[in-house]
Amino acid sequence: MHSTLACTALSHEAPVIAAACRSAGRTFLEGARNGWSKRELDRWLIDEYAPISVRLDGDDDDLSPESALRASGVAELIELVGVAVTEALRSLAYDPSGVIDAALRKGAIVALSHDDGSLWMPVDRPDLDIETRVLSLFATDYLLNPEAYEDDLSVCPCCDRVSFDAFGQCPRCSSAESGLRRIGSLIDDQELQSRVG
Ligand SMILES: [Zn+2]
Repeated sequence: MHSTLACTALSHEAPVIAAACRSAGRTFLEGARNGWSKRELDRWLIDEYAPISVRLDGDDDDLSPESALRASGVAELIELVGVAVTEALRSLAYDPSGVIDAALRKGAIVALSHDDGSLWMPVDRPDLDIETRVLSLFATDYLLNPEAYEDDLSVCPCCDRVSFDAFGQCPRCSSAESGLRRIGSLIDDQELQSRVG
């Protein structure tokens, strides 16, 4: 957004921001699996990340660390970040504190106050690395919409594709995906019943 937000309008923005954050995060993950290069990362930072992140007063317009990276190393970095973010998403389903605390500690998300409460948003700071930026999108989405992560977040057991369709099928490998926490709690219930019964 990169501009002063009208605070009165913020309460209506939450679902829009959450959806845009999730979409941008998933676009990055898909790109990481499809061999994105530096050029595609730069495009994503400009087209998808920057429009939904805020720059706080005082931040200068220095290029992000990724912009200074040599193109040759970036594809490998993108792939590694994709793997790391997918692992972090698995943890969001069960224990979000690690991802959320890290985002707060690094100043990668911010709560903007308004009349009805606060709106979480990613913060575009020059010193943030790419993994922190991608995770800030999912952290923001989580804080605005935790139920989706608790009930619907799925990671394909075959190819690690992330979706929010708890009992859907992965279109890539036709494997059944599982809502991480929902399936976990179903198994817990069955174990409990078998123990009680
Ligand atoms: Zn799959």
